[in-house]
Amino acid sequence: MEENVWSTGNNVVRQKKFGDLGIKDIALFSRSLRLRWLWYEWDSLQRPWKGTPVPCDQIDRKLFAACTEITIGNGQAALFWHDRWLLGNAPKDIAPELFSLAWRKNLKVAEALAGERWMRGIQRMSTETQILQSIKLWELMQTIQLSTSHDSIVWKRSNNGNYTAKSAYEAQFIGRIPQQQLEVVWKAKTEGKVKFYIWLLLQNRNWTTDRLARREWPHNPICPLCDQAPETALHLLLRCPYAKELWFSARSIHQRMADIALTATSINMWWRKLNSVGP
Ligand SMILES: [Zn+2]
Repeated sequence: MEENVWSTGNNVVRQKKFGDLGIKDIALFSRSLRLRWLWYEWDSLQRPWKGTPVPCDQIDRKLFAACTEITIGNGQAALFWHDRWLLGNAPKDIAPELFSLAWRKNLKVAEALAGERWMRGIQRMSTETQILQSIKLWELMQTIQLSTSHDSIVWKRSNNGNYTAKSAYEAQFIGRIPQQQLEVVWKAKTEGKVKFYIWLLLQNRNWTTDRLARREWPHNPICPLCDQAPETALHLLLRCPYAKELWFSARSIHQRMADIALTATSINMWWRKLNSVGP
């Protein structure tokens, strides 16, 4: 399960099943309502506002992308850079540095592919990363063949494949660490700075480069420790080969702790298992 990245940092208000009052978080709820704009952009109805910018921010769009699945047809609806139409990924995420160079960022897929318009501006690339990203993007695009059917979108969080505000609201709690599990951090017998680090980590609020990228702040796109994958909290703690090596060498000191780290697939799971009573 993907880690939750939609947290507003408000620990007072959250869903009832997470062990507290069950008052709706207004910020998260209004986000779930705003996604309706993005959903309507995909229908075939003539709406007067279509073609004008919708009132959604980057986080709205990320959440929308995580909740939907796009099947590319004629490329007339999906946005080339922003939508996750390329084998489940958005070119913007596959090649963030190229995206920053691209002249026109809101082309539809069909427009971008015609005459390779997506490449305009990209010829200015000057770094190794940009060149590698362009090769990767190019290779992935070779697998795509447009057809005559319409592009289609499915809402993954409802049974009938349609957007609902309720499911959009609930999606924002996926992977969130329940309050009791969060409070355990402060009881740990360790230094304050370590506790604080873990407390932030559990809520995905450390400044790993995926979060810097979302704010378009300066960042290194690849983990500096392994030079292989983007640096997310999950990568840094559990997935990075460098981290795995550290956990592996810790096996001689504390086998259970190390084994949990080596087998957990999310930070949520890691923390839950670490705190469960067991061998
Ligand atoms: Zn790494």
